Amino acid sequence: MEPAVVRVTLSLVGPGMFTIFGIVFGGIWFVERSRTHLLFMATGCLLAAAGAVSQILGLPGDIGLNALVSGFFYTSAVLTVAEGIVRRSGRSFGIWLHLAVLFLIMGLLWYFFYVDRNLLARVYVQNFGYGMILLAAAVRLSDLRRGRFLDRVLFWTLLAFALHFFPRTVMTIGFSAPVGVAAFANSVFWQTLQLSLAVLGAALAMAILAATVSDLIDDLRRERDLDHLTGVLNRRGFEASTRSLWASSSITTASLILCDVDHFKAINDTHGHAVGDQVLQRIARVLQQSARKQDLVGRVGGEEFAIFLPDTTPAQAFECAERLRTAICRADFSDLLGARSLSASFGVASQEARRWERLYRNADAHLYEAKRRGRNQTWSPDINDCFPVANQAR
Ligand code: GH3
Ligand code: MG
Ligand code: MG
Repeated sequence: MEPAVVRVTLSLVGPGMFTIFGIVFGGIWFVERSRTHLLFMATGCLLAAAGAVSQILGLPGDIGLNALVSGFFYTSAVLTVAEGIVRRSGRSFGIWLHLAVLFLIMGLLWYFFYVDRNLLARVYVQNFGYGMILLAAAVRLSDLRRGRFLDRVLFWTLLAFALHFFPRTVMTIGFSAPVGVAAFANSVFWQTLQLSLAVLGAALAMAILAATVSDLIDDLRRERDLDHLTGVLNRRGFEASTRSLWASSSITTASLILCDVDHFKAINDTHGHAVGDQVLQRIARVLQQSARKQDLVGRVGGEEFAIFLPDTTPAQAFECAERLRTAICRADFSDLLGARSLSASFGVASQEARRWERLYRNADAHLYEAKRRGRNQTWSPDINDCFPVANQAR
């Protein structure tokens, strides 16, 4: 085979790779349309492929036009990828900034071809321009440095990709541009440029793909662990979060509060199931707002909620349950229930040993006791045995 044909074939590996990444990003976006960053990544990869094909195959044939067309594709690709990466984190550069940068780079490329013809100047404009755009994206995402493992990988890969545009270009100082397109394409400078672009570009695309897959898994986990009606943790999520919190921290005494709405069946019977649902939503909100920041709130049954209190003594847990009970009593349900008052009963248990089943069983037994004693009260044997009538604000 002719060496020129081999060279062209090899150099098409880069655009081929960009095209495959473009298809992969586009495919994931097709089933996950809410993640618009994937569409930006797909478009960016395909624009980069178009830029490389235009440059390698010399399309269009006119050298000046070719420099502008490939420059347009490359610049749009870098801008689109930068936008896609920041969009994954819910940020954006805005269309006007993109257009201004595109206009500036295209203007300079035009100037250094048609007014002051200078190939190296064009190389500098493109490389420094792309490095600056990607650096701006890395700066906007600097908080990822302290994020999850894959966020950190993405940040450092992006930074490396952005920075590599600078030394590579500076190394060409003293380098005199080979005359003609073919000589330039055969130069070590150009070959190194293509290789580093392909390797780091592939690393960046893989890092974004990995971060996106991890986003998807996180969202599915959240979905699995949240109660759709009230937005607090469901039973599965509550138990899993409690176990991991208990296992991972230096917590000694932990407490569990179980809360069951009083006479809830009557609310459903009188006002309908839909109103019952709204009441449950409001109760969950009241519990969440009244609980401390470190506590976990979950809906563990139909009208039954649980609150896990790490590092909390029986007395503190009792106080907390009373605060929650009072908050429910005082909450305004008049728009849903008219003059009917609403209350809940609470059972509290505390434990030093990390035996979740026993803690839950005890709290359940104490909740039953609170019901048996007349509802709208908190029962905790550690406290009630010492202060039999501790409940107020009924
Ligand atoms: P008690 O004071 O003894 O707790 O009486 P109660 O009526 O609250 O207790 P019971 O367990 O008999 O009734 C609970 C009711 O909660 C029965 C069920 O229809 C209702 N429920 C369970 N899940 C939901 C739900 O998701 N939405 C609504 N609206 N009602 C629910
Ligand atoms: Mg009930
Ligand atoms: Mg119940």
